[in-house]
Amino acid sequence: MSTSPEFWTVADTAKRVAAGEIGAVRLVDTMLSRITNVDRELGAFLATDGEGARRDAAEIDRKRTAGQFAGPLAGVTIALKDNLVTKGVATTAGSKILQGWIPPYDATVVEKLRSAGALIVGKTNLDEFGMGSSTERSAYKKTRNPWDTSRVPGGSSGGSAAAVAAGLAAGSLGTDTGGSIRQPAAFCGVVGIKPTYGRVSRYGVIAFASSLDQVGPIARTVQDAAILLQVISGHDPRDSTSLDLPIPAFAEAATGDVKGMKIGLPKEYFQPGSGSLDSEVRTALERTIKALHDKGATTVEVSLPHTSLALPAYYIVAPAEASSNLSRYDGIRYGKRAEASDLLDLYCKSRGAGFGPEVKRRIMLGTYALRSGYYDAYYKKAQQIRTLIKNDFDEAFTKVDVLLTPTTPTSAFRFNARATPLDMYLGDIFTLACNLAGLPGMSVPVGLTADGLPIGAQLIGKALDEVTMIRAGSAIEALGGLGDKRPSGIGGI
Ligand code: GLN
Repeated sequence: MSTSPEFWTVADTAKRVAAGEIGAVRLVDTMLSRITNVDRELGAFLATDGEGARRDAAEIDRKRTAGQFAGPLAGVTIALKDNLVTKGVATTAGSKILQGWIPPYDATVVEKLRSAGALIVGKTNLDEFGMGSSTERSAYKKTRNPWDTSRVPGGSSGGSAAAVAAGLAAGSLGTDTGGSIRQPAAFCGVVGIKPTYGRVSRYGVIAFASSLDQVGPIARTVQDAAILLQVISGHDPRDSTSLDLPIPAFAEAATGDVKGMKIGLPKEYFQPGSGSLDSEVRTALERTIKALHDKGATTVEVSLPHTSLALPAYYIVAPAEASSNLSRYDGIRYGKRAEASDLLDLYCKSRGAGFGPEVKRRIMLGTYALRSGYYDAYYKKAQQIRTLIKNDFDEAFTKVDVLLTPTTPTSAFRFNARATPLDMYLGDIFTLACNLAGLPGMSVPVGLTADGLPIGAQLIGKALDEVTMIRAGSAIEALGGLGDKRPSGIGGI
């Protein structure tokens, strides 16, 4: 357990604040000054909210002194991906089109965090509207990987993962449409959970692809991620896709016990068609599999035969939904308005200036796929593939409790290394199917490459069975993949 407050876990911070060992105001000041010192180079934050965090911290200290319970997360610092709307705090989704927008309400997940006593320190960088895998597609700035500043932190929740890895917040929230929590978590050596679709409310989440988007936690330990998931889960009458089901005890699931657990190894994930699975990633996974075996788990090879169709199906469904979701940014209903001579000119200029190239590409792809005449050939076909992919998982889960795969084919890549859109998309190959099937997934660190870059393992659970997935995740964590290593590229402590 670390002695510097910047690297205290969520669990430890909450305990120490509740015990009065440290005041919430002092703690938040420590974190804010670390953000000031470190984030100039790291670039994880688009905005900080020192005033709001200090105000809420003072309230926690007041409650504690008065002997009142200040919430399960009292004093825990949290960073939020900037596509989660925050009342009174600018929210951009990483896009110029939303520059200067101050939302009048909090997303449900933000409300839940605040009422649990969490202190929101700021909003983190992302690929514009969540479209990307490196955070290089942010309209605002570059976020660096804390382990090696010449490399990307992953994306699209790159700012959230980098902030947690570098000790700028105890935990963070990201969103995951096709891997945007798990992939940056893997690249930054932290834990990320994408819950079952419907487990967490999407109210106040700036939509990318509504049938795939889910909010989830990023933290430095499995238990911390589980604690945060506990707080943000639950039915929300304001999101009709949120599930009205009891919330299991996620925080108690991180027992590390995998005795008797059946872990499936989908063979397609270990021999992808592109042959792009890096040998160091493969070796780290093989070591993990063996160690889980030694802990009493059984590993079984399974097949998910439609895996190679996940990428093309995702890159039809996600842009199709995005093209519809982003139509609201027209300079009138939403988005910065351009000077124009007539209505059509206003639409064209506002959208032309407001959206970046990747967003425009997706809008065009999606609009094309939905056109009458092409709808059956593309969109309908992609939805049919989605069913096949879901059936593959259903079949696999008749034999196993959870699936284990690499999170990504490689470790973090250098800036500008994936220049074409397709190069970038291919890196998502292992994370997309999970979203298409609506299943829970997580990434847990399993080791470092010879260059000192983190490697992540992905677990995919049965629908609504985050508990088993978290249990397996904590067993992997206990293998001590990163040792006692911390990011060395930035902000040493
Ligand atoms: N990288 C994927 C994409 O670009 C997934 C993004 C996400 O999960 N938000 O669409």
